[in-house]
Amino acid sequence: MSVGDGPAPSPPLLALKGVCRDFSCGGEAVRVLSDIDLGIDAGEMVAIVGPSGSGKSTLMNILGCLDHPSGGDYRVAGQPTRALGADELARLRREHFGFIFQRYHLLADLSALANTEMPAIYAGVPAPQRRRQAMALLARLGLGDRMGHRPSQLSGGQQQRVGIARALINGGGIILADEPTGALDSHHGAEVMKLLSELNAGGHTVIIVTHDMRVAEHARRVVEISDGRIVADRRRAGPAGPAAVHGPTAGAAPPDSWRGRWERLREASTMALLAMRAHRLRTLLTMMGIVIGIASVVSVAALGEGSRQKVAREMGELGTNTLEIYPGQEIGAGPSAGSARLTPEDADALALEPYVDSVAPTVGAAVPLRYAGIKAHTQVNGVGEQYFRVKGMRIAEGRAFSRESVRRYAQEAVIDQRTGIKLFGQDGAPVGKVILLGGVPVRVVGVVKDGLDLSTGPDSLNVWLPYTAVQGRLAGSAALQSIGLRMRDTAPPEDAKAAVARLLRQRQGGLDFHTSNNDALRETVTSTNGALNLLITSIALISLLVGGIGVMNIMLVSVSERTREIGIRMAVGARQGDILRQFLIESVLVCLIGGVLGIALSFGVGHFFNNANRQFSMVFSAGAIAAAFATCTVVGVLFGFVPARNAARLNPVEALARES
Ligand code: ADP
Ligand code: MG
Repeated sequence: MSVGDGPAPSPPLLALKGVCRDFSCGGEAVRVLSDIDLGIDAGEMVAIVGPSGSGKSTLMNILGCLDHPSGGDYRVAGQPTRALGADELARLRREHFGFIFQRYHLLADLSALANTEMPAIYAGVPAPQRRRQAMALLARLGLGDRMGHRPSQLSGGQQQRVGIARALINGGGIILADEPTGALDSHHGAEVMKLLSELNAGGHTVIIVTHDMRVAEHARRVVEISDGRIVADRRRAGPAGPAAVHGPTAGAAPPDSWRGRWERLREASTMALLAMRAHRLRTLLTMMGIVIGIASVVSVAALGEGSRQKVAREMGELGTNTLEIYPGQEIGAGPSAGSARLTPEDADALALEPYVDSVAPTVGAAVPLRYAGIKAHTQVNGVGEQYFRVKGMRIAEGRAFSRESVRRYAQEAVIDQRTGIKLFGQDGAPVGKVILLGGVPVRVVGVVKDGLDLSTGPDSLNVWLPYTAVQGRLAGSAALQSIGLRMRDTAPPEDAKAAVARLLRQRQGGLDFHTSNNDALRETVTSTNGALNLLITSIALISLLVGGIGVMNIMLVSVSERTREIGIRMAVGARQGDILRQFLIESVLVCLIGGVLGIALSFGVGHFFNNANRQFSMVFSAGAIAAAFATCTVVGVLFGFVPARNAARLNPVEALARES
């Protein structure tokens, strides 16, 4: 077939025109390739030969889209590559090229099978299909019984055959082999060359870089390069192989489909776990920062919640939603002359209001108390039968007096525990005893627990009688000192207060009373809680910051240790995003596992604490634990991002050249 009488020649599969490559070396540009014009057709087997340092590998990296030329034009299957970004070059590598390296460049943590499968993951081939293909390829290359072996368990020749299988899994239309026999003895070298010739005969385009003329003899075309220039391009006569097209593997999911993404995410997670397993102790030590951080935060939050619930319980007993009504316009004013006073009828009217839970009319008298020769000065309080409910007091012994007692002016008394001890001693049973109040005999019917109530100081002795009895028999006045109200919990305190004011104004024709409630106490407790929360938050931030910096540090180490792995993944077509995700997942996993251990540690602490301490307990809320997990994820992403981005931005050629 002579030139001229066939159809017009189609453009070559790979076409370089005026390609040069400069490296800056100490600020100086060194030209490594100059003015390369080369066309390689589909189905060719080309050997690129030349002395060491002549630029063969540099040319190969440009051919394989691992590197950009500094000048000139390079087209793959007619497509110019000049303007392509990192991910588009990665796509070209996935779809067209299979790389075979002198030092095999297999991933040490993965089996032969997993190494072979790897490029197919980035191409979006579903797992079962890619496993089948990898097994078939390895079997074809005589490694059927070595699929589960790690690279370290394989001979050099076997490793190189795994490398060939990996180059073929995505189709490997163009096989680029840089010194493929360089690390092999002559027997295994010959074996590899035979394989490459067979592949070429099967339709693959094969480009071999070598400095060994005996290796080059396998090729029908030999391109000789010296000092960055092509100095010879010889073709041997002989039948050309069938130029079959080996495109991307059929059945590959579009890489951006959810399925492709899921496969790649799974690969990234698997690799993250493998990396963590390979450095178990280091990973564990890195996690300790997060473990301690999360454990302390969750424990302190649980302590805070426990104490908050305890205080809330006590506040509930005390009655936060209570109101005390006093006559007179302000504290200490007393009832103004001629104005109405608070009366038992006012109390009865208030009791009928829908927002009122209970009402306690109160009168007071300072009367000496006597029992069997013991004298004491006590505050005698005349109160309604609902007083104990209004104040949230609890009966320790006996009972409170009843509505009937109030109606009958009954001479019945409820005392507090302090008064009981003062009069009757530690073991005296106060209930049923008769005491004298200003000469009036009164029977003790109940004892209330000493509580938190701020209106009765811790050193005062208190006795409560029906207010009718105090009015009629001790004080001699029908006016009330105050009315205590307990609002229903559903009533907003401000609304209830306004309604009380309205009602009293109506009844008395003027606003001649003032009120007080427990707001101040509530505010104190709330602001204490606020301060505690601030403390917890700052502990959380500091400990997680320290833990996060530890994670970041170890991720930077991890990236630099695995630079070559990153280069290999990029060579077989991993996108920048794939690399980014792999390292982000690793740092998030470190943080999440650290978080789980931290929460477990905190539960352990809580268990011991709650067994040892009856006063109040650590309360772990689901919200706090969810927040802990969310925090771990955020810390992992935040502190893993810079290392992961560094990894994703690595230059594939430089990464591959790294010794690690
Ligand atoms: P070969 O593969 O033919 O032995 P290379 O293509 O690896 O040669 O290198 C050709 C020349 O380019 C060498 O002199 C080498 O020092 C130089 N070179 C290669 N890569 C770089 C780089 N990243 N920076 C600077 N010089 C480089
Ligand atoms: Mg080289």
